[in-house]
Amino acid sequence: MIKILFPYESSGYAIPLADGKWAIVDMGCERGLSFLSQMTNFNIDLKQISLVALTHLHADHVDIDGLVALLKNSSCDFICPKLCFDQIKLIDQESNDVSELLQKSNRLTLVDDKFSMDCNGVAIKGVPTIHELHSEFILGANFSYRINNCIISGDTPVHSLFKEDHCDYMMGNTGIPVEYLILNLAQLSVEDITSQDYVDEFRKNKYQAAHGILHDFLDVLGNELFKPFFIDLHTLIPTHIRRLEIKETYDLYVKEIQKKTAIHSYSFEITSS
Ligand SMILES: [Zn+2]
Ligand SMILES: [Zn+2]
Repeated sequence: MIKILFPYESSGYAIPLADGKWAIVDMGCERGLSFLSQMTNFNIDLKQISLVALTHLHADHVDIDGLVALLKNSSCDFICPKLCFDQIKLIDQESNDVSELLQKSNRLTLVDDKFSMDCNGVAIKGVPTIHELHSEFILGANFSYRINNCIISGDTPVHSLFKEDHCDYMMGNTGIPVEYLILNLAQLSVEDITSQDYVDEFRKNKYQAAHGILHDFLDVLGNELFKPFFIDLHTLIPTHIRRLEIKETYDLYVKEIQKKTAIHSYSFEITSS
């Protein structure tokens, strides 16, 4: 069962592999919880982790203490977009040597273009997407990953994830349909969902253009191109909801998405855990 380590505000997921092993995607933090405290709370021993995949190196996706602990106490591999690796030095000024430790460990793969690897018999695929919150976040500095039957968007905006030329990735072509979509829908308040002016203003300020938002996802749900994807989809997990009125925001997402799924006869569940 997929574990959502930080269900509302941040980004961190444990995806089960074979033989009791786990792949971790992102290592965020939320409300006093850290990656390491969540490993304890979810009863995951660091030694059971085979892979840590970082979507990008914003501070809400990476945990320096967690990385150090994994380097010491596990034999996991790490993957991270090549174009943003240097930013790890900016996350925590006192931990500049983490990037060096990672590189020296020979356990780090810097991912570029369309990426795939085998991890404990499970296919891991990555696709470069846009997350242009800061000017250095050009295409390729942010990735979304597909692990087995699950896609994790990272901070990827919906329009970057659901692109026509990503169809192969979204649809799989691995013989395994995507059943779980963990989708960043990083809105700030109920007001910014319900007010188009507010959305437009935030788009200008880039925040919403740089993350998934409900409006874009509703458009994608109506796009025939992705019909096969949504027919196969079993569970949608909206995540990375930001700051304000989280419960109300989440409930609003569910209501609006369900209106669309009813029109298209999609039957996926929506859940936060
Ligand atoms: Zn980010
Ligand atoms: Zn983020």
